[in-house]
Amino acid sequence: MKKTAPKKSAPTLKFDTNWKYDPAPESADHVVIDKQYGLFINGKMQAPVKGKYFNTINPARETVLASVADATSEDVDKAVTAARNAHSKVWSKMKPAERGKYIYRIARIMQERARELAIIESLDGGKPIRESRDIDVPLAAAHFFYYAGWADKLNYALPGKQVTSLGVAGQIIPWNFPLLMAAWKIAPALAAGNTVVLKPAETTPLTALKLAEIIRDADLPPGVVNIITGAGATGSALVNHPGIDKVAFTGSTDVGKIIQKALAGTDKKYTLELGGKAANIIFEDAAIDQAVEGIINGIFFNQGHVCCAGSRLFIQESVAATVIRKLKDRMETLIVGDPLDKNTDIGAINSKPQLDKIKALVKAGVAQGGSMHQSSCAIPSKGFWFRPTIFTGVAQSSRIVQEEIFGPVLAIQTFRTVEEVIEKANNTPFGLSGGVWSDKGSKVFKVSSKLRAGVVWANTYNKFDPTSPFGGYKESGMGREGGMHGLYPYVQVKD
Ligand code: NAP
Ligand code: MG
Repeated sequence: MKKTAPKKSAPTLKFDTNWKYDPAPESADHVVIDKQYGLFINGKMQAPVKGKYFNTINPARETVLASVADATSEDVDKAVTAARNAHSKVWSKMKPAERGKYIYRIARIMQERARELAIIESLDGGKPIRESRDIDVPLAAAHFFYYAGWADKLNYALPGKQVTSLGVAGQIIPWNFPLLMAAWKIAPALAAGNTVVLKPAETTPLTALKLAEIIRDADLPPGVVNIITGAGATGSALVNHPGIDKVAFTGSTDVGKIIQKALAGTDKKYTLELGGKAANIIFEDAAIDQAVEGIINGIFFNQGHVCCAGSRLFIQESVAATVIRKLKDRMETLIVGDPLDKNTDIGAINSKPQLDKIKALVKAGVAQGGSMHQSSCAIPSKGFWFRPTIFTGVAQSSRIVQEEIFGPVLAIQTFRTVEEVIEKANNTPFGLSGGVWSDKGSKVFKVSSKLRAGVVWANTYNKFDPTSPFGGYKESGMGREGGMHGLYPYVQVKD
């Protein structure tokens, strides 16, 4: 018998991609989605002035879920007027502890309706039910609980200062975490005594409209929260309305720049939470298996539609081959498919334009010399899907290293020294987040304090908590949301 030389590294695991899981679908039978939704203005659902509507679809099936109102500047004006009246006549005059009670009530009703909210989030946006059920919805409720607690304690957040509300906040959110982003926006604004007009994204308006029902059921005074649906033009009309005191925007850097220009020279305050291209750094002394889980979570959570996604992976050269092999093996086990199935790891891409953008950037990655590897998983024939993808052999200047892809695509580079990886990690126009994996606390501390990023996770990734501030440097935006810091943009402070 022929002898073979013993292998130095562990054998490659072979995952049989034909493993069949029994379907484990979450039932959507009890969920009520109306055929048509109006605008939530002054405590009531109202038809849009111009009578225009657009469809929101289920991206996993390309079927229409509902038709929602397309708010024009006339509707924006009605919503801002309602918010202004509610602020001056009711909300700003109410005892802070009373305001807190209303916010608690919203949180509790969200918990009661958690299952319904999770299903609608997955239907409208394509994210796996496991994530909407265990992350989006509980975290959104937690934000309301947390900020309810601050409502009567603003003087402790800013000791020795006189704190008053700003007035009316115009808030615009993206499609990747629709309900959670609505909570990040509305909860601190209300706690600080402001009223709001919120516009969800065009492709994912349904959980914001369910939140409108919850706010109505919580008996909030009419006009304290107004929710208007529409496209970019609606957002623009809100930003430019002279009746608002503050703009809170989460979305792309391109639109953030348009908003910043529009607000220059006005006395409106603003916070911008924009894009990212985070470095996830694996040192040779890291616990490799945990790090691989962190890489998977960092880039494939929510289909990679995550502003703080760990989309640039830096592996220390000595362990690069091992990490990449384990990563490929782990990728093979990821199940891509029906967002409502509890086995699903990666759901549908949120929209056709987003899928086209991912495909175009991946094409550019290949054209610029990157070496692409995709999982061999099956994907459904209808709907918008993209297989988990990694690139090696990419240059710092590659488009897929520099630009936000906002999809399940990871660009991998290697490094030798701490100084080298810090320089490479900071070589980006963005600065939202980062990850460091090492067994050495001193190294973690050194690297994380040198990364120009608002949030850096150590030996974990994508951990969120309402008590913790979140926000970016450079083109990732300005201002912080979450924690005590999240209150500051919503208050006027006098010494
Ligand atoms: P987007 O295209 O910038 O849209 C964000 C929101 O702005 C949507 O509601 C959008 O409406 C609206 N909008 C579009 N044009 C506008 C304009 N000219 N004036 C005012 N509003 C306008 O971003 P997206 O594609 O929805 O979201 C993805 C981006 O959000 C990524 O870059 C991601 O990194 C970023 N993000 C950042 C954070 C953070 O905390 N830093 C969190 C989540 C996401 P339509 O939907 O109708 O276009
Ligand atoms: Mg949709």
